[in-house]
Amino acid sequence: PAILPRGLAQEAKNATHAVQDTAVRQRADTLLQQMTPEEKAGQLSQLFLFTKPDAAMESRIAKGQVGSLLFVTDPSVINHLQHVAVEQSRLHIPLLFGFDVIHGLRTIFPVPIAMAASWDPDTIERAQAAAAKEARAVGIHWAFAPMVDIARDPRWGRIVEGAGADPYLGSAVAAAQVHGFQGAYLGAPDHIVACAKHFAGYGAAEGGRDYDSVDLSDAQLRNVYLPPFKSAVDAGVGTIMSAYMDLNGVPATGNRWLLHDVLRGEWNFGGFVVSDADAVNNLQTHGFAADKADAAMRAFTAGVNMEMALNKDAYDNLPAEYKAGKISSEQLDAAVRPILETKIRLGLFENPYVDEARAAQVLGATEQKQESLRAAERSAVLLRNEHALLPLQSSGNRNIAVIGPLADSKRDITGPWVFVNKEQESVSVLEGLKQVAPQGTQFTYSQGVQISRKFPSMFDAIFGGDKTPVWTEAEQKQEFDKAVQTARSADVVVMVLGERQNMDGEAASRSSLELPGRQQELLEAVAATGKPVVLVMMSARPLELRWASKNIPAILDAWYPGTEGGIAIANLLYGKAVPAGKLPYDWPRDVGQVPIFYSHDVTHQPEKQGTRYWNEESTPLFPFGYGLSYTNFQFSNLHINHEQIHRGEGLDVAVDVRNSGTITGDEVAQLYLHQQSGTSSRPVRELKGFHRVTIAPGETKTVHFNIDKVDLTYWSAATRSWVQDDTRFDLWVGDDSNASLHSGFTVAP
Ligand code: BGC
Repeated sequence: PAILPRGLAQEAKNATHAVQDTAVRQRADTLLQQMTPEEKAGQLSQLFLFTKPDAAMESRIAKGQVGSLLFVTDPSVINHLQHVAVEQSRLHIPLLFGFDVIHGLRTIFPVPIAMAASWDPDTIERAQAAAAKEARAVGIHWAFAPMVDIARDPRWGRIVEGAGADPYLGSAVAAAQVHGFQGAYLGAPDHIVACAKHFAGYGAAEGGRDYDSVDLSDAQLRNVYLPPFKSAVDAGVGTIMSAYMDLNGVPATGNRWLLHDVLRGEWNFGGFVVSDADAVNNLQTHGFAADKADAAMRAFTAGVNMEMALNKDAYDNLPAEYKAGKISSEQLDAAVRPILETKIRLGLFENPYVDEARAAQVLGATEQKQESLRAAERSAVLLRNEHALLPLQSSGNRNIAVIGPLADSKRDITGPWVFVNKEQESVSVLEGLKQVAPQGTQFTYSQGVQISRKFPSMFDAIFGGDKTPVWTEAEQKQEFDKAVQTARSADVVVMVLGERQNMDGEAASRSSLELPGRQQELLEAVAATGKPVVLVMMSARPLELRWASKNIPAILDAWYPGTEGGIAIANLLYGKAVPAGKLPYDWPRDVGQVPIFYSHDVTHQPEKQGTRYWNEESTPLFPFGYGLSYTNFQFSNLHINHEQIHRGEGLDVAVDVRNSGTITGDEVAQLYLHQQSGTSSRPVRELKGFHRVTIAPGETKTVHFNIDKVDLTYWSAATRSWVQDDTRFDLWVGDDSNASLHSGFTVAP
């Protein structure tokens, strides 16, 4: 059971380490033998550094009382502090520099939920490898990514950072990101250490409110929320971040069952655990720890190696606790060892410094930009395309009106978790269209409305928020009318609506899903001009599109596509790239349907009177796995190589996918299973395989899936163990979670 469930990319590229395990261990042990308790506790402490380092910080580093720093991104500051650590500290142990490289450093990639929508692990791996290259060039060794939290409530702002709602897709994306960041082994050149976060269950916050407590059954936890973490561990992830919130009554950061029994016991995790920022101290706020010393002890004994501290903090108490005999030297060494081992594997003892001139060359280089463009094009999801309005034809579309609060924004297009990029380097939608459109195309632009949060973001206080003056009432009317007027005199309208970047992300939860501000009103007013409207959605959550899905002919979900976003969107609108992204969650009709997920219990039958709402359909507006193309695909010849298998055996499934259109495009073939009976009830269907394939016009490709025993095993609430039942399975293959090509097989003892 401990091996379950497995991530997709388990052929673990981490199998070969550059440095031998035993040599690494010996070196760490030699250091441990020389270290004082204070120096050991120092390795367990990570501090924020937002501004230039001061004398107090440098003296602390020189005393060997800091193991890691976060938020330093300037290579000259990194080199300077590394010199202090390496030359002035007694044992010359280098610092580990960490940062939130969530979707890029200087070159910004599509936000993680967007990349998940590519359903293409290869694209995701390439993107995070490119991000790692920039980070490593400036001296960052460690990304606090990937966030692998399953999120089924779009009110939760951090849905933007994960892979969406599904554990199977989430596990594939988790492994791809780990491989991208870390490369073939921990310490590979141009790569960094990954951190799977936030362990565990953080995405299930009550009411979608960030940091709120989480109450999950063991079955939900085991079958839905833990698999992406297990997949990251199988992919060799170097670190895990413990979550802020309370999980079933015990804060995750003080949860020994989670951090010890599951993570180390069942999964054999050999890296180290870092707490979320200030989460050790927060054990007091939970009404869990009595004081700072108690908080440190509770986190430490639960299995948190490193404290991410806002100030000099709780773990400063560890030496005293050790001297008082409450911590053994074995315990202390076991906590420090994987941190030293990580520094050794990264080669920091030999090469602690970075080449600042090279860093300047690597940041924002063409190579990363191309990778970002590719990822953005592959992530967009075409939600609607009536009368083949898209791709835009050059004839008859000479005058284009570009409208909306996000249409010419160079900041919003990169999304949240962006600190180090140069805003002027990103391409807005308007700019992208101007570059890509056929010669002679005329553009008129109008913002139309302003949108903002009711309550400011807590990050605005740290990083400085938007300083744009708020329009007066007269200006609002004038701009709104101007936008409608702009539409009237155009051949076609491109509207870019959604959420500003600070409306998604951490501490960015919301209670509704409607288009913020007067965007809906603007959309309706523009549509009323009778001009064809292409709606480009820019956000990371499924906003209410009930009206738009009936009245706006073309809708493209572009997410926050990153530095090259404007070019990517223009390429997609003009058919230079063909959309093939698929939704990583079900898109609700309104917020009252939340949570809504295709993989629900069998007794819930959305079409039936009784279980459905009396005021609204119970089906989603767009199902999980959904996304259109500019071409058409047909699925046929579903073939399973065995009608019956024995428990423990696997089987092969093949299906033909034909491109019946006139242009080359990608399709994502998806395989779903349903177990008809068992020791516990099983969902109506679950994703158990997918492949994104490129198919030329008229061509047919056979797509193969392999189902093995892991795919047929689940954690049973009844037996409280991993089980594989002898029963019949339904199987569907198709282009979304409503896939209808059906077959089945039986598992016998
Ligand atoms: C977030 C983490 C992040 C950390 C450091 C916390 O508030 O929850 O995801 O890595 O800050 O920036």
